[in-house]
Formats: sequence, C-alpha cells, structure tokens
Amino acid sequence: MTFEYAPAPESRSIVDIKAKYGHFIDGKFVTGKNHFATINPATEEVLSQIALGSVSDVDKAVAAAQKAYTKTWSKLSGKERGKYLYRIARILQERAREFAVLETLDNGKPIRETRDIDIPLVAAHFFYHAGWADKLDYAGLSKSPQPHGVAGQIIPWNFPLLMLAWKVAPALATGNTVVLKPSETTSLTALLFAQVCQEAELPDGVVNIVTGDGTTGSAIVNHPGIHKIAFTGSTEVGKKIARAIAGTEKKATLELGGKGANVVFDDAPIDEAVEGIVNGIFFNQGHVCCAGSRLILQEGIADEFIERLKVRMAKIRVGDPLDKNTDLGAINSREQLLKIQELAGVGDSEGAERWSPACNLSDKGFWFAPTIFTGVTQAHRIAREEIFGPVLSILTFRTPQEAIEKANNTPFGLSAGVWSEKGSRILWATQQLRAGVVWANTFNKFDPASPFGGYKESGWGREGGKHGLSAYLKEGK
Ligand code: NAD
Repeated sequence: MTFEYAPAPESRSIVDIKAKYGHFIDGKFVTGKNHFATINPATEEVLSQIALGSVSDVDKAVAAAQKAYTKTWSKLSGKERGKYLYRIARILQERAREFAVLETLDNGKPIRETRDIDIPLVAAHFFYHAGWADKLDYAGLSKSPQPHGVAGQIIPWNFPLLMLAWKVAPALATGNTVVLKPSETTSLTALLFAQVCQEAELPDGVVNIVTGDGTTGSAIVNHPGIHKIAFTGSTEVGKKIARAIAGTEKKATLELGGKGANVVFDDAPIDEAVEGIVNGIFFNQGHVCCAGSRLILQEGIADEFIERLKVRMAKIRVGDPLDKNTDLGAINSREQLLKIQELAGVGDSEGAERWSPACNLSDKGFWFAPTIFTGVTQAHRIAREEIFGPVLSILTFRTPQEAIEKANNTPFGLSAGVWSEKGSRILWATQQLRAGVVWANTFNKFDPASPFGGYKESGWGREGGKHGLSAYLKEGK
C-alpha cells in the first residue's frame, strides 16, 4: 500500500536572517569589506551577504584568540571551562528549532535530518566535551597535558554546524582558543553560533569566526600565530594544507574524503540491509564523507537485492527540504551538482547501467534524483572517485576474500559496512577492512564518544572520544 503525504512544511518564521553579516572577532560582530551571496540551494533565493575574510581580518581574529588564550582561557580551571561548554550546549538545545530551520535553508538538507540528527548531535558534542574539561589530567593522554594555544579550524558545507561542534567543543574543553572558518556556502549557522557564544558570556576572543573562501582558509593555515590546524574537507585541499605546514611546528588533523564500501553477504537480512544501504548513500543527499557509496554484493543475491533496493528507492521523497516528509533535499550548490552530473555521465560513458526512480524535480534550485549504477567494475571512475552525491556504485563478489579485496581497493579508508547474520563472519571482515570506522548491520551511526577518522587519503588523526582530545593537547612539563 502506498500512502500519499500532504505537505507539512516547517515554518521559517523562527529564523531572523540579516541582509548582511560581518565576522565575529573578540566577542563582537565586526563589519567586513567585500561580500558574497549565500543562497538557499532549494530555491536559489539569496538569503544574505557574507563577508569575505581578508588576511587582515584573519590577523585580527588570531590576535584576539592569542590575547584570550594568554589572559583568560588558559588561566581558567578545567571545571570553569566545562561550565561554559555546558551553558553553550543548553542554549543550543533551547534554540534547536531555530538552528535546524536555518541549517535547512542554507544547506538544502531535509528538516527531518537537521532537527533529528545534526542539531541533537551538536548539543551532544558540547555536553560530552564539557564533561572532559576537568578530567584531562586523569585521561591517560599524557603527563599533565597542555593546550597548544590558538587552533585554526576550517570546515566544509555538508554538516555545517555539526562540523563546527566537532572542532570547537574539544578545542575549548582542552583550553585552546579558536579561529574558525565555515564553508563559503553555509556560514549562517556558524554566525548564529557566535550569538550563542555571546549569550553564554564566553570570554571575548575565545571563539572567533571569520567567513570567506579558500583564500581566507589559506590565510588561517599560513598564519604564524596558529599552533594547530583542524581541517575537514576534500583530500585535494587537505594535501595543500599538509604541504603548507610541512616543516613548521604546526600540528594538524585532516578529515578528508571517502569512498566507503558496504559489503552485503548472502546470509544478510535483506530488508534490513536494503534499509541500511539506502541510509548509507542517500542520507544527507550523499554529501557524507563516510557515505557507503560502493555497494559490494554477493553475486547469488545480487538480482533480488537490486530489485528490492529499487522498490525502496521509489519511495524516497525528494523535494522541499523544509517539508517534514522530505527524505532527500537539495544538492548544496550548482558547483556540486555539476560535479555529480559529470561523474554520473562518466559512469554512463564507461558502460555502467544507470537507474533512478521517477522523481518530480523542481526547475528552481539544485536537484539530483537518487541513483544507482549496476555493472560497475573496479576500473570505473565511479568506483574509485568520491562523487559526494546521491549516487551508488554496485559491484559484486563471489568469495569473502574477493569482497575484502574490492572494498579495500581504494585510495581512501574512512568507513565501511558489513551485513551478515554470522557474528564470526562480521568479526573476520571488520578486521580485514582498512577503514577508520566499520559498522556492522547498521550504517552512519555517530556518537561524540566514538573516535572518527580515516586511513590513507582519508586523513590524519581522529576526532571525537578520548582520541580526539589528544590532538588538542601536548605533553606538559
Ligand atoms: P573543500 O576542501 O572544498 O572545502 C573545505 C573548506 O576548506 C572550506 O571551508 C573551504 O573554503 C576551505 N578551503 C578551500 N581551499 C582552501 C585552502 N587552499 N586552504 C585552506 N582552506 C581552504 O571541501 P568541501 O567541498 O567544502 O567539502 C566536501 C569534502 O569534505 C568531501 O571531500 C568530504 O569527503 C569531506 N568531508 C570529510 C569529513 C571527514 O570527517 N573526513 C567530513 C565532512 C566532509
């Protein structure tokens, strides 16, 4: 039976978007010089004008962060720092609906996800790290661990506020101060977060937010006053950053791209596995570094599995991200849409077979229907390159060893999934898979206590959990 859904749009009246924003430096909003537009990718409506941070803006932000580090933040006990983090977490919870609507407008992701996943996880990250702030000496990290000083943090557009939380919460808990740059297409929730810092009466200069593009990011990376870089974004930019800081004293964590494999054995519970594959690749329009973008299916169940997957995909509701019924929202930018279209076109020309359910896509905004490619081989670009969109490449295998070899045959190593009813097979496979996170009979589960990060070209270091704290600390004297 198919149910029809009446539209259930979330009201946007809760958000108050200014026509123009500056930067947040030393506890105050300061005006920027040049600006660029940020748009709603579902409608192409201009939401606001965002300041393009210059070298001089970055200088001011780093100076404010250095002053705050020396004069206030490094003088506070862990217990006192923790109180600020708890306060921020509670304000985020109180303003959760406002953040969810604003994130959906600026990013294009469905309100169901911002409301139920992004924003609750953001608050959870602050609560979790608040709890660590006064326990760092007992965490077994090192002898009397000390902060680095000023952390330069650069984040992408796919989980704008969540990536901010992954960066800011551990930095503050460990006693560092911060200069953060959000992505150029999704700066609005970071600027609203700046208001939360004011509301929480966080000492001036502890968190500084400079908006802008790659040139602003590069000014942060190359600034001599930055002691630690935390970057999440593409492998290409990650490599540039690694080159820029080589030979300096700067510490870095790099959370980069992925091409996660979901391996489904023939004894897997098929309906659950189909659900997990759909979640693995179509959650957040596939704009997920750890997306299960390769499905590696045991040959004997491949035909039946793909049929059931198609039936399930035909029920994915694509459309208005503010509608509470929507499963798949808008692609974040025209540039990203062109990249997805280009790589899907390469899939066609290399001989893979494309299938998408019928979808009513709006003429306005950036949209891409949920898509699978069958008949994919390891030589195809769509099996090797990160598409970062709602596109699944399906390969098959005959023996468990072949499945592992195919899953590991990638320059990345961020995530993987195993689907099987046999515990022994799951344990065997998870030990063979070369990925930072391996899920078994589930996918895309996140928790602030769990370290996250990759092998190979997926990056350096871990974020989250005790492992994530250590990146913000050095051994004390
Ligand atoms: P991107 O690398 O283009 O941009 C990321 C950030 O870096 C942006 O804020 C951008 O302005 C900035 N930047 C660009 N050039 C720079 C430079 N030369 N120096 C310093 N900063 C610079 O990535 P994106 O398109 O925003 O995000 C998508 C990518 O992020 C995907 O590859 C995805 O896999 C990855 N990602 C990884 C994780 C993870 O935890 N591993 C999480 C989310 C996204």
